[in-house]
Amino acid sequence: MADYPTESDETLANLLHEQRRFPPEAGFSAEANATSSDYDMADDDRLAFWARQAERLDWSQKWTEVLDWSNAPFAKWFVGGKLNAAYNCLDRHVAAGRGDKVAYYFEGEGGDTRTITYAQLTHMVCQAANTLSDLGVTAGDRVAIYMPMIPETVVSMLACARIGAPHTVVFGGFSADALRTRIHDCDARIVITSDGAYRRGKAIGLKSAVDEALLDCPDVRNVLVVRRTGQEVGWTPGRDIWWHESVELASADHQAEAFDAEHPLYVMYTSGTTGKPKGILHTTGGYLTACAYTHWAVFDLKAESDIFWTAADIGWVTGHSYIVYGPLANGATSVLYEGTPDTPHQGRWWEIIDKYKVSILYCAPTAIRTFMKWGAQIPAKYSLGSLRVIGTVGEPINPAAYMWYRENIGHSRTPVVDTWWQTETGSIMISPLPGVTAGKPGAAMKALPGVVADVVDDSGASVANGSGGYLVLREPWPSMLRTIWGDDDRYVETYWSRFPGLYFTGDGSKKDEDGDIWLMGRVDDVMNVAGHRLSTTEIESALVSHAKVAEAAVVGATDETTGQGIVAFVILRSEAGDGGPEVVQELREHVAKEIGKIARPRQIMVVAELPKTRSGKIMRRLLKDVAQDRPIGDVTTLADSSVMDLIKAGMPGGA
Ligand code: ATP
Ligand code: MG
Repeated sequence: MADYPTESDETLANLLHEQRRFPPEAGFSAEANATSSDYDMADDDRLAFWARQAERLDWSQKWTEVLDWSNAPFAKWFVGGKLNAAYNCLDRHVAAGRGDKVAYYFEGEGGDTRTITYAQLTHMVCQAANTLSDLGVTAGDRVAIYMPMIPETVVSMLACARIGAPHTVVFGGFSADALRTRIHDCDARIVITSDGAYRRGKAIGLKSAVDEALLDCPDVRNVLVVRRTGQEVGWTPGRDIWWHESVELASADHQAEAFDAEHPLYVMYTSGTTGKPKGILHTTGGYLTACAYTHWAVFDLKAESDIFWTAADIGWVTGHSYIVYGPLANGATSVLYEGTPDTPHQGRWWEIIDKYKVSILYCAPTAIRTFMKWGAQIPAKYSLGSLRVIGTVGEPINPAAYMWYRENIGHSRTPVVDTWWQTETGSIMISPLPGVTAGKPGAAMKALPGVVADVVDDSGASVANGSGGYLVLREPWPSMLRTIWGDDDRYVETYWSRFPGLYFTGDGSKKDEDGDIWLMGRVDDVMNVAGHRLSTTEIESALVSHAKVAEAAVVGATDETTGQGIVAFVILRSEAGDGGPEVVQELREHVAKEIGKIARPRQIMVVAELPKTRSGKIMRRLLKDVAQDRPIGDVTTLADSSVMDLIKAGMPGGA
């Protein structure tokens, strides 16, 4: 059993107060997909609500039971139902006469573009499905996908789904080592990759990393290689196959077979923010239902007219649910962007929004804080008038970052949706609904209709409004993980044993006076300062609310007198200079004023970068290692491992 704090009666102290409110505009509400009665409908009969959402999909055989929870916590949703996920994302739209509708506007990092319609995507996926079948892949076999952000990545995923072969997508930025451990963990027999990927104008080798990983993976039979950069690659005859010599020549005649609703769709490894990534298993019917519903409700998606852009990597669950499965199930048009936000210039995102008239933008708070650091004058150069809903995911959004996003990107006009969810939940669980919910900067607000979230104390009892505790989900939901791949015991232990009968998220949170939910950081990161349990998020938000600070990460370091001392790492905004001792003092006092003396950091380090996962989450456990001057832990999921050397060098006594 994981070591969660249990010693204290006092759960998280609830310290910051946020008074700003942004009620929905009447015009928006009148046209909104979601209505407040959706909550009532789901409260009355949660399973009937989800059954209604499942009608968004085409089933070749209807289910006989919505949920079988008799073997809890192992769930079966839409029992007896049969469907094909790829058919639902592709063929049915073509059959309904929408084949010419654009599925993706692909924007390469170097400015190359491709426009891909639903008919074209269907054609490509059928070809890839035939090739995989020719390579002996059958339903249930695992396929690893190690690719850049290019259309062939989506094609590969859907080809797997079409033939019932669960995919496991591994970030193209991960090392050969990380790839190998994932191939081993899920026993993949086929790898799909590309020669290389573009990153900041340079061609990086992907095939070379696959070759290295496979030195230790004797069970992998074939490697299917997409040509992206044209760089030189090593070649193992008999094993390696070019995509353009196989898939692109294959027949596009392919009949999608219907699979059981509980057939495995994919295994996705968690970001690894808190430790070794877990292989999360998602299945077909429930997952696709919840992706389709949440994509429609949370983003107010109008499939006919919206241009939707999730600016995240497909190798993260956000990309699976909101670049691939949700938008395609809904027949939406999306942007797929290959590159980084500052290639070739810091206005690239805003240029893309202007060019494609993007109407819905979904990204991570880390990106927003980076844009804050670069300055509001950059987005101000572009027309962002097409935007009508903007969202965030991945970390708590600090109120100051929310306000910056709302004002500078949403022009104080568009609803902002702060969406809380996890790899494990498969789809968004807690979020405002545009047109229904009044926004509060920094709050994820309410569980979506059909989802039952709560904040509980150490004993599992629901806390009163105005108090903090542990975020749990009280009832199963369709897109829930079914297990940790190959490790049912770890599944039960990690999620279902801390509070019997409740799903434990691992996150700390609070209910405000209105009962709305705020995320307060990982339970593992909660600090105990002189007997008070303090949240990292609140102190970070207080720091980010200072005009000179762009980003902040806070950790507790062991202190002989107070138990833990607060150590903060901050990145200053461009205009704030380098940060001398006066700035540090100013920031310490600012926190004391905003929250209270108890939260005043013992030490503040001004740094140029923070250690982050590839999905942009701050890895506090590594900063804690630095603050306590002990060896740095596992850095394999870090986006850039040189960041840790820089930070260590900047510490007093650092080398
Ligand atoms: P690991 O479980 O391997 O440590 P991880 O938890 O970072 O990695 P993900 O599943 O990608 O892996 O991230 C889910 C977590 O991200 C949540 O548990 C929560 O801590 C954080 N998170 C996601 N969205 C939000 C949000 N809107 N507000 C606050 N926190 C969020
Ligand atoms: Mg997690």
